[in-house]
Amino acid sequence: MLKADMSTADWRALDQAHHVHSFTDPRAMNVKGTRVITRADGVYVWDSDGAKLLDAMAGLWCVNVGYGRKELVEAGRAQMEVLPYYNNHFQSATPQMIELASLIAEVTPPGLDQIVFANSGSEAIDTVLRMVRHFWRLQGRPSKQIFIGRSLGYHGSTLAATSLGGMAHMHGMDNALLPGFEHIGHPHWYTQGGDLTPEAFGLEAARELEAKILELGPENVAAFIGEPVQGAGGVIVPPSTYWPEIQRICRLYDVLLVADEVICGFGRTGSWFGSQTFGIEPDLMTMAKGLSSGYVPISAVAMNARVADTINQGGLIAHGYTYSGHPVACAVAIENIGIIRREGLVERVREDVGPYLQSRLQQLAEESPIVGEVRGVGLMAALQLVRDKATREVCTAEDNAAILCRDYAADNGLIARALGQAMALSPPLTITRGEIDELISKLGSALDHTARALGRL
Ligand code: PMP
Repeated sequence: MLKADMSTADWRALDQAHHVHSFTDPRAMNVKGTRVITRADGVYVWDSDGAKLLDAMAGLWCVNVGYGRKELVEAGRAQMEVLPYYNNHFQSATPQMIELASLIAEVTPPGLDQIVFANSGSEAIDTVLRMVRHFWRLQGRPSKQIFIGRSLGYHGSTLAATSLGGMAHMHGMDNALLPGFEHIGHPHWYTQGGDLTPEAFGLEAARELEAKILELGPENVAAFIGEPVQGAGGVIVPPSTYWPEIQRICRLYDVLLVADEVICGFGRTGSWFGSQTFGIEPDLMTMAKGLSSGYVPISAVAMNARVADTINQGGLIAHGYTYSGHPVACAVAIENIGIIRREGLVERVREDVGPYLQSRLQQLAEESPIVGEVRGVGLMAALQLVRDKATREVCTAEDNAAILCRDYAADNGLIARALGQAMALSPPLTITRGEIDELISKLGSALDHTARALGRL
């Protein structure tokens, strides 16, 4: 039996003995020891030593309404009391899944009105893959099977989501990419754009899609899938020309366009969905994280009428999970959407704290010798660590700059994430200007420490 007075050393020993972590090198972790997080409130978390950390990643880009929201606790508790579980298989439903589906249809862009539930971003992606192939088969075009994703795209870590994503280290782990997945490059002007203007580069990057479709044959391509802003790939904000061109190409060749909104959804970019920020009109959209602010696992896929009507007329939908539309998760998500609406969090990100964070980061970048680029929109951002600002030469894995900076930040009470050689931020949407000032001051001092360690200050 675990005791409430377990010490950090006790937790670490037990953790090492029995628990395999996600996206972690156990050898490195066990030198340092696991960080055990025990409680949270607002934008802060506390570890088992009592240290207070400003969580500038909102967990894994997900705690949009902040920690410690009593309304969400109560919504989950009350639902468990009345009906802790029922499912949507075999013509059943619960009021919560019906209400949540209609609420999601309200907040998604017009036309995305039919909702499929799942439990994680990865499962939402797998759902898209199955629904899209089903759609094309029902349309009498069964050869349209191939999905096109992007390098540094992240869509989850099931076998199918890994195959769709463009993370080389994930592909390398089990050497088991499924057939039917192809990739084009990612639209990061700073590292890929060379002498082109960002706008010209955006068009060039989008036209890789056209070349790939023509190479594969449009009759074989089912869909293109992209995150409006690539999150785990490094907060890659594409040039303004990129998404309109991607959309034009998808329409021209009748390739479905899927927006993976798992990070961008629910206010992160200053609109309800990243698609709205970038003027994308997707045929399907995935969402997870911010749907429940991470309080309980739940995800969803929204489909437009063309896709949904075909599927709804196509006979048995042989897909679904035990917990699709779980009533407790739905009850929490309904309340979570209520909070986002009542507190005007989307507008707050767009008009107030989003621009404030971005402008404070620009100042930091100007002052720091090792930050070459600030990229971001709303409350997601990354600082690119560079060897040379003038030539845009970025730091390499050998410099180890981002890991150093992340560790300095943590020692100083700030959780930021190292993505490649960039520092990523994605705080709760409830963060105040005062808390942003604290974030900036802590990050600034971590950057100074890093610059000193690299001999650049
Ligand atoms: N898509 C995107 C864009 C994501 O960022 C993530 C998770 N970070 C996923 C899908 C997978 O979500 P999950 O980890 O819930 O399976």
